[in-house]
Amino acid sequence: MIQIQLSERQEKIIDIVRDNEPITSENIAKRLELTRATLRPDLAILTMSGILDARPKVGYFYTGKTTFSFISEKIRGIKVMDRKSVPIIVDEETSIYDGIVTMFLEDTSTIFVTSKGFLSGVVSRKDFLKNAIGGLSLNKTPIAVIMTRMPNIVVTKPEESILDAAIKLIDREIDSLPVVEEAEDENGSPAYKVIGRITKTTITRLFVELGNNE
Ligand code: ADP
Repeated sequence: MIQIQLSERQEKIIDIVRDNEPITSENIAKRLELTRATLRPDLAILTMSGILDARPKVGYFYTGKTTFSFISEKIRGIKVMDRKSVPIIVDEETSIYDGIVTMFLEDTSTIFVTSKGFLSGVVSRKDFLKNAIGGLSLNKTPIAVIMTRMPNIVVTKPEESILDAAIKLIDREIDSLPVVEEAEDENGSPAYKVIGRITKTTITRLFVELGNNE
């Protein structure tokens, strides 16, 4: 576990090393008017967490990593596959009515739509509302009529970092991304299999965990 919260003394040590590297523990202790023994646990934490580098007989170096770069490194290390949840999927021929029922029953704000098992579209709450106002027959019209279609679907892949997925959600102003795997359809054309989803809730949950230092 990375030590994210540093004490005031540890922050001071970092400043001293940054301005005077390489510097021995003896000299750091002198500047702080403390004994080397008092500093030992702080120096151990700072080297173990990678903020300082210790070279025998030379002294301590500053690695340039800040507390913030640790948080960002930690987030970048988390992959979509570590966090994806179960996608809610219906076939293109499902009626708008059944799509609305699915949205309620599954307590989701976005439904992914497939054709012959491959991603063909996305339907959100607003798509349903827009078309309810439009007066389409909910029972007779397939969901395919109102969905946002491929190739306009923004997707994410299992290996992508969760940060990049979150950036897509923000930049495109959408609530949810299908997690896809590349495949070939029956004609040998490139297609996507849906294997999960990343939503704003996924990101909020992660934010809370990081905030609670879990
Ligand atoms: P809401 O309807 O609750 O505002 P969104 O903001 O996610 O939900 O959806 C806004 C629009 O973007 C809808 O028309 C929806 O079909 C479309 N949309 C949602 N997710 C995606 C996605 N991953 N890729 C492309 N378009 C999407």
